[in-house]
Amino acid sequence: MEKSLPKKKYYENIANTIIKNMEKRQIEGYYCPDSTSALKKALELIPKGSSIGWGGSMTLTEIGLMDAIQNGDYKIINRDIAKTPEEQRKIYGEICCADYFLMSTNAITLDGELINIDGRGNRVSFLCYGPQNVLILTGINKIVTDIDAGLKRARDIAAPPNTVRLNRKTPCSITGKCENCYSPDCICSQFVVTRRSGVPNRIKVIIIGEELGY
Ligand code: SF4
Repeated sequence: MEKSLPKKKYYENIANTIIKNMEKRQIEGYYCPDSTSALKKALELIPKGSSIGWGGSMTLTEIGLMDAIQNGDYKIINRDIAKTPEEQRKIYGEICCADYFLMSTNAITLDGELINIDGRGNRVSFLCYGPQNVLILTGINKIVTDIDAGLKRARDIAAPPNTVRLNRKTPCSITGKCENCYSPDCICSQFVVTRRSGVPNRIKVIIIGEELGY
């Protein structure tokens, strides 16, 4: 459904508030009103020939970025092609040295903090350290008021559909809400709040004025 003008303006306003608040955190921010402009902006930011790894994300697929980089002039580092745990480990080592790491975020606060949960920790580890640049694409639906709301969103809104997508045997994949599990398939091992980017502008965030991902 086409968004009303007041809603479009509201999305732009709230994104600009977050982008301003990310400046003090040394995080670079952009607002794109739709997926098409977000894809264009992402491809502008990533120089041709860059080596690129990524973390699991519906948003990257939904806006067409995964197709674009896989068919573009980039060095793709795809952990999914690993046939053995040793190969996968080697690929993770390559991602650690990549030019770009692509991901979404489970939540972003009005004050500009990023909140992410992870089962094995590889995605959040690359967010914290390693790849030269981290490019985050996030739908407007990931915005929350504060860190507590972000942690709640990550567990009650983002994790349950992700466990279904990943075919994990967790209570939330059945009940649709977090049951605070410790099951072997639990995807909530690490809760990471990114307060700032230690390296100025290493983390770049594109906020998209559409509902995307989980
Ligand atoms: S039930 Fe387990 S896997 Fe699901 S959201 Fe809660 S802690 Fe995470």
